[in-house]
Amino acid sequence: MDSFIIGVDLDGVVGDFYGAMRNIAAEWLGRPVESLTPRVSFGLEEWGIAEYGGYERLHRFAVTQRNLFLDMEPVRDAPAVLRKLSSRGIRIRIITHRLFLKYSHRASITQTVDWLDKYDIPYWDLCFMNDKDAVGAHVYIDDTPDNIQRLRQRGCRTIVFTNSTNLGISGPRADTWQQAEQLIMEAREEWTTGTLGLFGAADYSGWDSGA
Ligand SMILES: [Mg+2]
Repeated sequence: MDSFIIGVDLDGVVGDFYGAMRNIAAEWLGRPVESLTPRVSFGLEEWGIAEYGGYERLHRFAVTQRNLFLDMEPVRDAPAVLRKLSSRGIRIRIITHRLFLKYSHRASITQTVDWLDKYDIPYWDLCFMNDKDAVGAHVYIDDTPDNIQRLRQRGCRTIVFTNSTNLGISGPRADTWQQAEQLIMEAREEWTTGTLGLFGAADYSGWDSGA
């Protein structure tokens, strides 16, 4: 029997991307960290980075000079819950868009792989992709509004992992990894039994993972 596949985003879902970036941005901007609101939107414009060169410049500094992807903390309980899901036979397919910036790919990839090992995060597949639905999964978990909306438009069942960037997006939604675990187990149950409840038959057609 085929495995149930979850497509797992990293930044803002498994790794505390915004917490790590906040510390690095404070140094980069020469400001106390408390002056940077933790309630950011995607792109971090609340921190006033535009006049210092903008997001891409901060991102490059964070990855190449401060090991962003190696040093960030995991989101609470994410590694442990992923280990539980994996031990139940669920296939974890990590899908991340960390290569969006040129000339820092080696650092991005090596830091990512080392970080996944450092926190004993299990995975079968590691996909560096923007077009997340192209690799296929039975259910996705992501935090970025554009990704979630694009996945859903293409018929992919997608769980929102809550942070300040996505509060306006409709559910299914997980505020914690315990809630994510429950939603993922419900989705697998629907897949196993051929029923549709959590995501509704009206919005999604079939269970083809595209894999
Ligand atoms: Mg993300």
